[in-house]
Amino acid sequence: MIRKFISRVLKLGNDKKPAGKREAAIIPRSSHGISRDQISPGSRRVCDTLQAEGYKAYVVGGAVRDLLAGAKPKDFDVATDATPEQAKRCFRRSRIIGRRFQIVHAYMGQEIIEITTFRGALGDDAKTDAHGRVLHDNVFGSMAEDAARRDFTVNALYFDPASEQILDYHHGVADLKQKTLRMIGEPKVRYREDPVRMLRAVRLAAKLGLSIDPEARHPIRELASLLENVPAARLFDEMLKLLTSGHAVKCLQQLRAEGLHHGVLPLLDVILDQPLGEKFVMLSLADTDERIRRGKTSSPSFLFATLLWHEVLSVWERIKNGGESPIPALHQAMEEVLNVQGEKLAITRRIATDIKEIWALQPRFEQRSGKRPYGVLEHPRFRAAYDFLCLRAEAGELDQELAQWWTDFQAAEGETRAQMLLPDQGGARKKRRRRKKPGQGAGEGPADTAA
Ligand code: ATP
Ligand code: MG
Repeated sequence: MIRKFISRVLKLGNDKKPAGKREAAIIPRSSHGISRDQISPGSRRVCDTLQAEGYKAYVVGGAVRDLLAGAKPKDFDVATDATPEQAKRCFRRSRIIGRRFQIVHAYMGQEIIEITTFRGALGDDAKTDAHGRVLHDNVFGSMAEDAARRDFTVNALYFDPASEQILDYHHGVADLKQKTLRMIGEPKVRYREDPVRMLRAVRLAAKLGLSIDPEARHPIRELASLLENVPAARLFDEMLKLLTSGHAVKCLQQLRAEGLHHGVLPLLDVILDQPLGEKFVMLSLADTDERIRRGKTSSPSFLFATLLWHEVLSVWERIKNGGESPIPALHQAMEEVLNVQGEKLAITRRIATDIKEIWALQPRFEQRSGKRPYGVLEHPRFRAAYDFLCLRAEAGELDQELAQWWTDFQAAEGETRAQMLLPDQGGARKKRRRRKKPGQGAGEGPADTAA
């Protein structure tokens, strides 16, 4: 209502124009409150330099949105009418990235600023797949066209550091004030062009506490299956963003509410379709959210190790029941799960290796005698594996006492640490002297290859 009223008063007829031909509302600093000091030094310098060379240059997208919403921007992107070649020439330390739609990376001290040339409207001849997904998106265009190509109104805001004005083509500022995430253009068409926008809608709404406008929300259920045609690597990236947004639990609830998981998001099926593992997974995500909100990082390998753990447990059980002894059975189970899920989820080899190390250390935590614990402590993935152990204890999967023992064992030193070791439980090892002073640790014996 208010939005319609304002737009009617301000710009009679502007809303009727095709999206790519609209004029921007110009919002002064006195009304939006953002000053040039709030953008990063690098992006400020990039805009100043481009403008000094006679080009248009604005900080755009997520950064402006986040500043207005009182959130901390992840990065500061710049949009300009300079072509990539022209932009590159303005900065000594810069390079052109990408083949189809080229962008420029300018290196400003520690910062890398992404400079994008205004993108043009999609022509009728734009190449799409059979479902309407746009395959090439590589024409330059006007600023108004660039605004119309963005997904949500709150993402089509341009901040000019020189005048400190915001140029707002689609009432993004008003939508943000009203806490609404609204699609630019016809939502169904925009989801068909790029189904990942459905995931972005859920993530951004959760991150900023916005509600998705019903017009953008309703088609999601119907179009969810379009996600099946998105390349796995892109889905992986987007899911990772979602899971590490600091609002993973909220996002998952919303995805579920929108019917966005069965069959279309392999990762979500993994998370949500395991009655036994759900408690563990939710605990892990809540934990990750907490870490991220406190400004800590969370590694993808740890996250995926938790997401797939219960699947490993059940395969492990099956293989053990088939007569295999525990440790080889665990390794077979890990391989099996990663072979199947790794491909579906586009987990890279590097991440898979880290995941396996976290898992393989788990049974080794249960051996608390002799030199073995010292070897575990020295393992490069000890920290992640220990966090994983604590999570399992918290989920009630194993005794808290074990996790506590490892907490204390790490903190203890020298003789105190040695005294914590338990008597050799195995009994199978003949002639082994019990509680022998365990040397100075550090992977000393063959014991640390227990797994
Ligand atoms: P965040 O950085 O918090 O993850 P963001 O909105 O900044 O969110 P980016 O991927 O950094 O996301 O994209 C920067 C900008 O590019 C967005 O604000 C939006 O204007 C535009 N954009 C990104 N992805 C799409 C898309 N799939 N369709 C249309 N526009 C997009
Ligand atoms: Mg961004």
